[in-house]
Amino acid sequence: MATRVDPNFMQSLEKFGVKDWKGCFHCGNCTASCPLIEEEYLFPRKVIRQAQMGLKDKLESNIDLWMCYFCGDCTKSCPREANPCEIMRSIRRYQMSAYDWTGLSKKFFTLQKWELSFFFGIGILILILFAIFLPPSPELWANPTRFINEQGGVMINNMVDGFSGEKFLYIIHYGDWIMAFVAGGLLITNILRMFYLSIWRDKSIHIPFHAYLTQLWKLIYHFATQPKLRKCDDKLYWLGHLVFMTGYTIMFVLIVGLLPRFQIEEVVPWYNWQRILGYYATIGIFVFLVPVVIGRFRKNKCKLKYSHFTDWHFIIVLGLTTISGILVHIFRLVGMPVATYFSYVIHLAILVPMIMIEVPFSKWSHLAYRPFAIYIAALKKAVVKKKQTEQVPVFA
Ligand code: SF4
Ligand code: SF4
Repeated sequence: MATRVDPNFMQSLEKFGVKDWKGCFHCGNCTASCPLIEEEYLFPRKVIRQAQMGLKDKLESNIDLWMCYFCGDCTKSCPREANPCEIMRSIRRYQMSAYDWTGLSKKFFTLQKWELSFFFGIGILILILFAIFLPPSPELWANPTRFINEQGGVMINNMVDGFSGEKFLYIIHYGDWIMAFVAGGLLITNILRMFYLSIWRDKSIHIPFHAYLTQLWKLIYHFATQPKLRKCDDKLYWLGHLVFMTGYTIMFVLIVGLLPRFQIEEVVPWYNWQRILGYYATIGIFVFLVPVVIGRFRKNKCKLKYSHFTDWHFIIVLGLTTISGILVHIFRLVGMPVATYFSYVIHLAILVPMIMIEVPFSKWSHLAYRPFAIYIAALKKAVVKKKQTEQVPVFA
């Protein structure tokens, strides 16, 4: 396979956030100080070198980028203030846009107006759909007590004009399924492209089918626990990230998979599983999000010193989704039907575009790409190991 060289590649990477790359003189301090390098993965210096040489193909297939957790330790050791951590992060944005066949990821990472237009476009569409097909019942104002149940809470599924509670619930439930199907489907096709660029394109690598099965546990293990992140200096960050990740994974499962059991009319006591899981997810998101926001404002940690606009977009939309979800919950509990209806609609108008942008195209997709990259690395390693054991020693 011919190697593509783009002499202007570093300049084009600037759109993805790379800033002080000219300072790097390849001393290797960053690689020496990285707690996550292994024999096979020598980053970030090697990655920076490939980028400076304009080796686009090599970078697109280079899964080393996914072994980095952006702890910032390397940036502290750089004598030229080239900020290798941020360079890695920016090149990863480029790589994610290379995985995405639709081209939207590139637009979202490089043009803020594209991300904002999509976000507001989908959000406004949700508001219009509610206004036309699921408007509030006029009785919400005329006779609000009709929507209050015996426990004093709002019957959330009965507030729409002309629909029974169950019918409304299933409209939202099937809508969630469509959203998950589209966002998940796009993400899966991007992951397949990641496989193509990283492993299938190289005809010299043949992965036996059984290796895909035997290495699968690594995919699950790394997705669930992020053990490499624990090797970085900031152990609390790993814990916060774990609680955060489990929190929004739980919330995703509750709203997409279990909505008929989660969004019920009865206000259940605080110790019921729906509320415990909901509270865990909410606390998990805030426990991580609040220190990250403070850190990005203060710029007191290497990893939070530079903020790309997609970093802020992710934080803001996730924060707004969580706050609007909390408001729905509070308005329900205190028995305010009108406020419950409108906060619910606004919540969905933020949540749906967030999922549609973040899951397949933007920052959130790293949650899937990273364990798949570790899986790909394990597959490659399995092949190399097999070849080594099959080699007959010359002097045997
Ligand atoms: S990024 Fe900094 S530490 Fe790393 S090789 Fe370049 S100059 Fe050295
Ligand atoms: S940010 Fe952390 S994990 Fe990434 S290359 Fe630097 S030291 Fe290694």
